Amino acid sequence: MGMVGFYAGSFDPFTNGHLQIVKKAAKCFDKVIVGIGHNTEKKERIDRNKMKQAIEKAIEEEKLNNVEVVIYEGLTVDKAKECEANILIRGLRNGTDYEYEENISAINEKMANMDTCYFRAGDLGYLSSSVVMELYINNKEIDKYVPRAIAQLLNSLR
Ligand code: ADP
Repeated sequence: MGMVGFYAGSFDPFTNGHLQIVKKAAKCFDKVIVGIGHNTEKKERIDRNKMKQAIEKAIEEEKLNNVEVVIYEGLTVDKAKECEANILIRGLRNGTDYEYEENISAINEKMANMDTCYFRAGDLGYLSSSVVMELYINNKEIDKYVPRAIAQLLNSLR
């Protein structure tokens, strides 16, 4: 069966930073599942079904054939287990991310016995969904910061 990683996020929208994490994870694991979840502290900005389709297109364009995308409700660990994932994947940009992620990872390990693998953001550490959204809302070009398929989706909604 091998190692299956579950990369959860709001991906609202999915950025080049997220894509970079998916690429790194796809090299390390046999299969990677991108899980579009619902963060109860954030309001959904872009329709999740449309985002799923755009992420699938981006993954296809990158020829990442061991990656799939799912939408889920509820707890990440529950969906990850349902998908038979062995490990959770998250990206780290900075110390603030680390502190936030550590709390979630600790509870997931204690509660569900699922460990988390972190990948470094590196030179894309400045990118966030909220920065992209801020540019988008103010009619600036976002094409440099998101995969082509996601830019197409966002620009089609303008
Ligand atoms: P959530 O609402 O669950 O935090 P996000 O979509 O904001 O979802 O982020 C999902 C994951 O991707 C998080 O682990 C986050 O730290 C990581 N991430 C976000 N932006 C980047 C980036 N530019 N580079 C690397 N990882 C990132």
